[in-house]
Amino acid sequence: MIALAPGGTIGILGGGQLGRMLSIAAAQLGFDVAIFTDEPDSPASRVSARTMVANYLDHAALADFARRVDVVTTEFENVPAETAQALIDAGARVAPNPHALAVAQDRFDEKSYFASAGIAAPPFRAVASQGELDAALAEIGAPAILKTRRLGYDGRGQIRIDSADDARGAYAKLGAPGILEGFCAFECEVSIIAARGADGAVAFYDLNENEHKGGILSRTTLPARVSADVEAQAQDAARRVLEAFDYVGVLTIEFFVMADGSLIANEMAPRVHNSGHWTVEGALTSQFEQHIRAIAGWPLGPTTRAASIEMVNLIGADAGAWPALAADPDARVHLYGKRNTRAGRKMGHVTKLKY
Ligand code: AMP
Repeated sequence: MIALAPGGTIGILGGGQLGRMLSIAAAQLGFDVAIFTDEPDSPASRVSARTMVANYLDHAALADFARRVDVVTTEFENVPAETAQALIDAGARVAPNPHALAVAQDRFDEKSYFASAGIAAPPFRAVASQGELDAALAEIGAPAILKTRRLGYDGRGQIRIDSADDARGAYAKLGAPGILEGFCAFECEVSIIAARGADGAVAFYDLNENEHKGGILSRTTLPARVSADVEAQAQDAARRVLEAFDYVGVLTIEFFVMADGSLIANEMAPRVHNSGHWTVEGALTSQFEQHIRAIAGWPLGPTTRAASIEMVNLIGADAGAWPALAADPDARVHLYGKRNTRAGRKMGHVTKLKY
């Protein structure tokens, strides 16, 4: 592939904070960014050259968008498969591969894929009725977690099941086809941010150690307190996924680290990831620049980490602490420009580096 020259236009599906940070990184490399979003006044559109506000299934708008950009990428994995196909049909180059998006959108397909690729995942069963839930619970055993197959994120659409009693009526409460997963009593959670260039080169960032609160990422620290073997397992899994999908761009896999040092894959995100936000100040190439480099056909940049890292998310009202954070010389403050504060909403993050 011929590298996209500066001055070219990168299209991004989605207008959230990941799109915003991708757009800033793209601007730094001399690209223009066009955002396609169904949300007026989105965080990403306010830092981008152009925005098209339309429904993700509006084929005429997608065809128009495809004509105006050199490559299209996504900032959220729930882009409908039809959207990616419509863009491809209109002649757009879409990266990463929409097949990876489709697999990551459905927790059952995702875990089935992990199993087929030899990547350990929790025990799981698809459940499409209360009867199937009861049968799955009998096989997997409690504790377990019932999740929607699709459209779940940040702990939404999840019900913890500690007993057969908890399972009663749980399918109706979930309200959509689901997956029952065995609960993993992990030591800690880690994620790997990996990238693959158009030339097939692969790069990994150091492993992130992640703490969640209420299913939402709260804090990421590096170095992760895990062995070199755990890191090698994570890299091996990421490399397999990147190569299997002929993937171009940044990809994230989240894992549970078990007491015996084995890794169990929880989910993959075919995009830049919250646990990689530290790379803006903490690595030679940020995950956002890396993704833009990859999809533009540029060589990948070095992923070397500069310091020990603590990244803390500002969730909901946390962002109100910005005056104190701004006065802290150790805090690198990022605010996403969201107009409304809501409980559980990611409003920004703070990164601290220790040399
Ligand atoms: P998810 O939305 O699937 O990434 O889940 C959000 C968080 O819930 C994870 O990061 C874990 O902290 C927890 N969780 C999800 N699935 C499991 C599981 N099978 N076993 C233990 N904890 C889980």
